Amino acid sequence: MAESVTAALSKTRDELADLYRDLHQNPELSLQEKRSAKLLAQRLRTAGFDEVVEEVGVTGVVGVLRNGQGPVVMLRADFDALPVHEQTGLPYASTTRAVDHEGRDVPVMHACGHDMHATCLTGAADLLAHTRDHWRGTLLVVFQPAEELATGARGMVDDGLFERFPAPEIVLGQHVAPLPAGFIGYGTGPVMAAADSLNITLHGRGAHGSRPEASIDPVLMAANVVTRLQGIVAREVPPAESAVVTVGRLQAGTKDNIIPDRAELGINIRTYTPATRDIVRAAIERIATAESQASGAERAPEFSWFSSVPALVSEPDATHTTVAAFAEHFGQQRIMPMPQVNASEDVGVFGEAAGAPTVFWFWGGLDTHTVLTALKEDRLDQLPGNHSPFFAPLIEPTLSTGVEALVVAALTWLAKP
Ligand code: ZN
Ligand code: ZN
Repeated sequence: MAESVTAALSKTRDELADLYRDLHQNPELSLQEKRSAKLLAQRLRTAGFDEVVEEVGVTGVVGVLRNGQGPVVMLRADFDALPVHEQTGLPYASTTRAVDHEGRDVPVMHACGHDMHATCLTGAADLLAHTRDHWRGTLLVVFQPAEELATGARGMVDDGLFERFPAPEIVLGQHVAPLPAGFIGYGTGPVMAAADSLNITLHGRGAHGSRPEASIDPVLMAANVVTRLQGIVAREVPPAESAVVTVGRLQAGTKDNIIPDRAELGINIRTYTPATRDIVRAAIERIATAESQASGAERAPEFSWFSSVPALVSEPDATHTTVAAFAEHFGQQRIMPMPQVNASEDVGVFGEAAGAPTVFWFWGGLDTHTVLTALKEDRLDQLPGNHSPFFAPLIEPTLSTGVEALVVAALTWLAKP
């Protein structure tokens, strides 16, 4: 059945490639995706969606297509770009600049492939809208902003996504990755890590650099905290679990002969299970508090947790069902199991909020020959991956594979007529 739906793709493929190049050349930063949102919403209207609403969660777009009795199936794509200076040399490379949320003028690039995600979802929505006799149920199409800030999904949910629109029985999403184009990669259970960020302010007492006895030195305190934090993964997280604790920002002082009165740390953690996440979060606060006491600080440190994404769990049973449909459509040889990815994705927020399983898979965008050569020369990790200024999926077969995967997945969960 999927074949008869995707057959019409040959008619829209070129037009979709134009849309992709347009989005790629005109990338927009998180929560600034206004032009892209307009384009995508217009596509859904043209496709005949019953309801198309913009500005859900600032710049999100929602489309509803009702087609009789059956489950509500949600297809999601993100569509924000990154502050990266594109160096692909492609004729449709971005030269766009924008002002980011902190007021800085930055280059902008679709370095994570979200332009491909949005294009494929547009194509799938169009195909399903034109083949309503092949399925029953309700299709909920969600273009989510601000994935790169890890806030976009939460923003749409908080803006009443599942009260204003039908709540789904399943959430389906995909991400283009540095795999060979035409291939689908999948995992089950936690496939991408939970990410949590915090800032710590350590309070000391400032003094002249020549009079350490008059100070409580926050620089020494911070140095000890950084070193001690490395013991969390090594000594507190069970060896079978994995976790990352990165101190990405460490700031104190203004001048060599002044002992400052405070130090700041910016920390990012990645975990796969709630239990490990709790261990790591608690250990960070315990260590900073204890080091502060060890230094004789008069004021306890301050902790500000400012960003939190749960681990992305691709529900095992639903994933197996979906992947079996992929194998039937694409052939088993184009399906590959994948290890966990330490990056994070906020698509899981939708499933969690709707109380529905999420199924998430990756699909390839790189030239197969390039990947095989790199594999032979043992330099797979040097291939341009997501967020690289050189990351550019091949338009085909990436686009067709992405559209077909969404259609096949949707039809797996929609009712038969
Ligand atoms: Zn990204
Ligand atoms: Zn991404």
